[in-house]
Amino acid sequence: MASESATQQAEKRKNQGMNGNLSIGRFGGVEVRLNWSLLAVVALIVWSLADGVFPSQNPGLSDNTYLGMAVVASLLFLASILLHELGHSWVARREGIEVDSITLWLFGGVAQLKGRFRSPGAEFRVAVSGPLISIGLGVLFMLIAVAGPPTEVDGVAAWLGYINLILAVFNLLPASPLDGGRVLHAALWRAKRDYAWATRVASEIGQGFGYLFIALGLAMFVFQGSFSRAWLAFIGWFLLQGARAEARYVATEQALSGLRVRDLMVRHPVTVNADSTIGRFMDDVAGSHRFTTYPVLEGDRPVGLLAFASVAAVPRSDWDTRRVRETMIPLEEVTLLTEDETAVDALEELSAPTGNRGLVVDDGNLAGLLSITDIARALEVGRSPARGPSPRPT
Ligand SMILES: [Zn+2]
Repeated sequence: MASESATQQAEKRKNQGMNGNLSIGRFGGVEVRLNWSLLAVVALIVWSLADGVFPSQNPGLSDNTYLGMAVVASLLFLASILLHELGHSWVARREGIEVDSITLWLFGGVAQLKGRFRSPGAEFRVAVSGPLISIGLGVLFMLIAVAGPPTEVDGVAAWLGYINLILAVFNLLPASPLDGGRVLHAALWRAKRDYAWATRVASEIGQGFGYLFIALGLAMFVFQGSFSRAWLAFIGWFLLQGARAEARYVATEQALSGLRVRDLMVRHPVTVNADSTIGRFMDDVAGSHRFTTYPVLEGDRPVGLLAFASVAAVPRSDWDTRRVRETMIPLEEVTLLTEDETAVDALEELSAPTGNRGLVVDDGNLAGLLSITDIARALEVGRSPARGPSPRPT
């Protein structure tokens, strides 16, 4: 179906290169991406291992050996984070949650899950699966180190054992959006049977941890002059942002609950023919209906979006020769929505930098037009707190 292939194209484009993420392939059906920030982290880890950790723990080896050990250790560390995230994703799948992708970045990994947990139990199982894998890996590497292998292997295995256990402990802090915060959320949800309340409380505790980490990081920096502890402040900032976003997301989700694209879209938008000239468009369409965007049709198939702003940029002398097709945003670059999609999902898609309005397409035919302002209007009408649309950060 045309609509499907167009949607897939849009999906593909989204996966490539956005936000500096590089797709490295699929593992067990989940797309894995690397964020550029990871390069800096890997370089930092290699440097601190080769220059400090390995020479002091396993003395007597050559500099090149330390460097080789450091490279192997940091690659296996990345693989460990990946396995942690894949653990979340695979369990999420089993619980009926769609997994978009996994992005590895500065502070580990983020598995993008779509949809809601069916029960507190499901949320709990998904949340603990990652740390359980980290603990398993930590124990495995520790056992390898204890078995008395050659000193090169011993150094790498001991560090990997240690770092995986640290990773598990850190992630189990009850600080939303960390895994432990989700465990806490699941427990609160089960206790009171109120999802939104659980999210508010978990988010407040998460923000508390965020402030605490920032304060600790800054204190260590100020009183000990320790740059190496300043990363605590960065983690705190990350927690703070994540916890706030989660609370906002739930507020938005509540305000839009039950609404679908079909409830908010403009049903019979004024359309333009791809082959008509800009002059014709100005005379026939723009003169009587002044909108900011017009769906462009070829026959009755949508092929793009015409923004009035780009028409205005065409010099008047070109109006009779330039066609709508050459001026429009082609379909591959337009956000495509379906009538059945929830308003929350649509909001997320329309918040992408590629455009704040999308075509609603049904079986390849134009069904309507939806802009982020249409959704914002619904948010204002609803009894939501007085704030604009605030999508979950991705
Ligand atoms: Zn995790």
